[in-house]
Amino acid sequence: MRVPQGPSDVLPQVVQQAVLALAEKMWTALIDDRESAAAAEEQVAGLSRQVGQEVLAAGLSERYGRQHGPRRRCDCGAQQRFEGYRTRQITTVLGPLPYRRAYYRCLACGAVYYAGEQAMGLEGGCFSLPAQEAISLVCSEVPFERARVLLHRLSGLPFVASQAEHLCQTHGQRIGQAQQQECRQLFAGELELVPEQRDHRLYITLDATKTRFRDDWHETRLAAIYDALPGRDGIDEPQRTTTVACARRHLEAFGQSLYQEAARRGLDHAREVMVVADGAPWIWNQAAEHFPQATQILDFYHASERLHTVGRSVYGEGTKAAREWAERNVGHLSAGDWKRLLCSLKALRPRSAEGQEAVRTALGYFHTNRQRMDYPAYRARGLHIGSGVVEAACKCVVATRCKRTGMRWTEPGVQAILSLRTLLLNDRWDEYWQPIKTAA
Ligand SMILES: [Zn+2]
Repeated sequence: MRVPQGPSDVLPQVVQQAVLALAEKMWTALIDDRESAAAAEEQVAGLSRQVGQEVLAAGLSERYGRQHGPRRRCDCGAQQRFEGYRTRQITTVLGPLPYRRAYYRCLACGAVYYAGEQAMGLEGGCFSLPAQEAISLVCSEVPFERARVLLHRLSGLPFVASQAEHLCQTHGQRIGQAQQQECRQLFAGELELVPEQRDHRLYITLDATKTRFRDDWHETRLAAIYDALPGRDGIDEPQRTTTVACARRHLEAFGQSLYQEAARRGLDHAREVMVVADGAPWIWNQAAEHFPQATQILDFYHASERLHTVGRSVYGEGTKAAREWAERNVGHLSAGDWKRLLCSLKALRPRSAEGQEAVRTALGYFHTNRQRMDYPAYRARGLHIGSGVVEAACKCVVATRCKRTGMRWTEPGVQAILSLRTLLLNDRWDEYWQPIKTAA
C-alpha cells in the first residue's frame, strides 16, 4: 500500500476526468435546443455542485487521508497508533460527499482520532461548518421544517428538521456562553467595549412577550436599544436598533445581557440615556440597577390605555361618560399633572367589583410611576415618550419566529433560536461564525 506523505499539489487524474465529464454534460445541456434556457441553467447549477463535490471530496481526502506518522500523542498521555483509513459521508454546502481520513486509536484509553474531524468542526456529527452556518442562518428566520425545504430546493443541502434543531441548540448555547463570558469580563473590569457611538442619545426600551413552552406560556423579556436624532418635527427618530431577548426565567441573566448590549451601544459615552417602558416593576428595577443615570419615562400610550380601561370599567363599555372621563384624564396625564390624575381616580365611586378593582390597580400604577410622567418636559426636549420600538421588536424578534401555530418550546430551544436571531438582526452574525470558521 502506498502511504501518502503530503498532499499532492496537482489535481489527481481521476478528478480531472470526472470534472471534465461534468463540464461536458453542462455544455451539452446548454447547446441542446430541445432544452429550455431555464432547464439548461438549472442543469448547469446542479452539475456545478457535482463538480464541487468531486473536488472537495478528493481534496479533503488528500488533506486528511494521510498518515501523520505511525503514532500520535493522546490526551491521556499515552500514544495513539495509526490504524488505517476510514471513509465517511459528510454533508457540505455543496451536498453530501465521502472523504477518506486517517484513523488512530489509543491502546491505553481506547480514544479514537479521525484526522480532519476537529478542523472541519464535525464533532461527531456529519455537517461541515459552512453547512452548519447555512442551516443555522435559515433556521433563525423560519421554522426547522421550512428551512429544510428551502435549503433543499435552493442548494440541495440535505438534512432533517431534528438535526437542524440540534445544530441550532448547540450554536445558540455557545453564543450564549460567549456572551456570558464577555459579561463576566465586563463586570470584572477586564474588558472595555469600544463604543459604537459617542455623545449620542441612547434609548433603552423594555417589554415582555409570552411564548408557549411545552408546559405553559412563559415570558420572554426583551429590550430594544437605539440611538436617535431629531426628526423634522423636533422629536427624536430612532436610528439603529439592536435587541436583547431572554427566555430564561432568571431575571439576572437578562439584566446582564441588557447592560452588555447597552455598553456596546456606548452607554458610558452617551450624552443622555432614557429608559422608556410600560410600568412593570421588574423593568424599573433593572433600570435602577443598570442605568441609574437614565431618565425614566412611562410609556405614554400604555398609560393612556389604562385610563380608557378605568373609564370603561366604571362607566360601562362604549358609553359617552366612559370616553369623556378617559379623555379628560389623558389630558392630565399629557400635562404631567399626576396630582390631578390621582385626585380624579380617588374621586371615582365605582359600584361594580370590576370597576373597584380597575380603580385600585390604576391608583397603584400611577402613584408608583408618578416621577416618570413629566411629559411636557420630555416633549420640550424632543424625547420619545412611547415604547413602540420594543413592541415592534417583540413581533419581529420573537413572534414571527417563535409564536407560530402549534409551536411548543423548551427553554434551551427557544433561547438558542433567540440567540441566533438577535445575532443576525443585530448585524453581528460574523462575529460568532468567522472565528470558528478560521480556527481550523
Ligand atoms: Zn489515550
